[in-house]
Amino acid sequence: MSIVYTLKKIVDPAAAREEEAQLKKAREEVRQQQSGDPPEPGAEPEGPAPRWRCHCCGVEDEQGGYCPECLADTMELLGSSIDA
Ligand SMILES: [Zn+2]
Repeated sequence: MSIVYTLKKIVDPAAAREEEAQLKKAREEVRQQQSGDPPEPGAEPEGPAPRWRCHCCGVEDEQGGYCPECLADTMELLGSSIDA
């Protein structure tokens, strides 16, 4: 805790709170990365893995974003009730 930080907290409490929250968040992210245990095989935190399918070539993958075949942002999440 620096003097500057303490002064800042007195002068501008809102900004200091925001900065404090950002620091806390950054620290938590670092901690999560450092304690990054590999997930247990078979331990699914949120049920079955979501499936994605390219609406151009129909290739399926477990991650969305770019289709590995089309190399384009054409992947759609399966299982959702959204009809395109
Ligand atoms: Zn594709």
